[in-house]
Amino acid sequence: MSHQPLIDGFEFATAGARQKGRWPVRELPRLRDMLASDAGEIAYELEGTRDERGRPGLRLSLQGTLELRCQRCLEPMPFEVGADEVLVLAASQAEIDAEPADAHAPDRVLAGKEMPVRDLIEDQLILELPYAPRHEGCAAGAGQRADERISPFAGLRGLMRGKH
Ligand SMILES: [Zn+2]
Repeated sequence: MSHQPLIDGFEFATAGARQKGRWPVRELPRLRDMLASDAGEIAYELEGTRDERGRPGLRLSLQGTLELRCQRCLEPMPFEVGADEVLVLAASQAEIDAEPADAHAPDRVLAGKEMPVRDLIEDQLILELPYAPRHEGCAAGAGQRADERISPFAGLRGLMRGKH
């Protein structure tokens, strides 16, 4: 299937539709603000699927390199993105809210007739970013703490998904 900027979520999922392409980083405005440079592209693949409980979902794979800014020396640092997530579609926000909080549950996303592919890509990329990026063994780095690499946003994934 050729590139479409909008998809009908349930239709795309149940048809097992597929689209892939490359998205320029400079066309992802919310993500761009978090980067040292908006050069480059992210390769994406979106595929209609079902989760292990048979619920329609979207499988989103992303690959590419983003230029983050090291929070210690403030120089650019490359960050490899390699995401492969299944987003289980929900018919309503109430359905998402009713689900018990479970860190191992798949991410939910509110289905729509016109879901912007860009938002799916951009939201997922934002979730992939480390909270406080630092060069490994940064030249400016003394007393670096490994525990700072654990993102405090990990528990917010579900909340972010629910905002659409
Ligand atoms: Zn650094």
